Amino acid sequence: MHPFTYTQANDAREAVGAGRRGGRYIAGGTTLVDLMRETVERPDTLVDISRLPLREFNVTKRGGLRIGALVTMSEAAAHSKVRSLFPVVSEALELSASAQLRNMATIGGNIMQRTRCTYFRDVTADCNKREPGSGCAARGGVNRAHAILGTSESCVATHPSDVAVAFAALDAQVHLLGPDGERTVPFLDLLLRPGNTPNREHALRHGELITAVELPALPRPLKSGYLKVRDRQSYEFALTSAAVALNVSGGVIREARVAAGGVGTVPWRLRAVERALAGERPSDRLWSEAAAGSAEGARPLKHNRFKVDLLRRTVERQLRTVGDMA
Ligand code: SF4
Repeated sequence: MHPFTYTQANDAREAVGAGRRGGRYIAGGTTLVDLMRETVERPDTLVDISRLPLREFNVTKRGGLRIGALVTMSEAAAHSKVRSLFPVVSEALELSASAQLRNMATIGGNIMQRTRCTYFRDVTADCNKREPGSGCAARGGVNRAHAILGTSESCVATHPSDVAVAFAALDAQVHLLGPDGERTVPFLDLLLRPGNTPNREHALRHGELITAVELPALPRPLKSGYLKVRDRQSYEFALTSAAVALNVSGGVIREARVAAGGVGTVPWRLRAVERALAGERPSDRLWSEAAAGSAEGARPLKHNRFKVDLLRRTVERQLRTVGDMA
């Protein structure tokens, strides 16, 4: 492991100061420590932020829910407000990783976790994300688990988070603190598609720290849920997943929010599916017809063509499940 210095931040300003000087933030450490052991990540300085007071659950003036960045995955999944207002978030969290990891990993760390592409984690393989300009071993290699949406010639890796898919569907906002003060960015703008620079994964500025994720108040009644399809029933990443939230009143779908995981280089909002649902009356035929647009724009690779149809089926099933509750 590359030698590094370790420092513990006592408050958020102190952490940001250390971040501005090049320190890497660490909280639960469930991704970063693994990557350091494998020498994929080689930070010179770790800034431990785990003692910062970023563990809030606050209902905002606008009726949304603000979740501190250091709330653990298991705390967020179990919280009564999350369960009652945003079950899609609870379900996505509970279907993630293992109980031990959920007890350590934080909400902020979860959305910033790095890809599970095996070539990224193998320092002997070519990888533009790890080593810009070296190539992409996944393109000509085993790419069954890779992305079909948002890919580029440079990189085809999926974003691995489940809860990020729910955040994408709900139009979450991300609160940041940096050297220039506080700002808020839409979650959908936080994570970047690879393009020609897959090593640039997010829109955080130098030294910025995620302080909270805010789930906005959405028109009620709102029914929501998360479906994850994977090779085994636990401790596995998604082949496909679907986060669905529906507002149905008077027998008509007033608003539909649908996002997919396991298929995109970032959590993927399915706008074509949402458009097909809005203003319509729920029916089996509608779920099927709307889900047909799930993989619009997909560019499958040699080993992951099956994801096109699997995504359609995943979305259709979850639309039906949530639609039956609405
Ligand atoms: Fe690296 Fe992306 Fe290619 Fe994986 S898909 S090897 S992360 S460049």
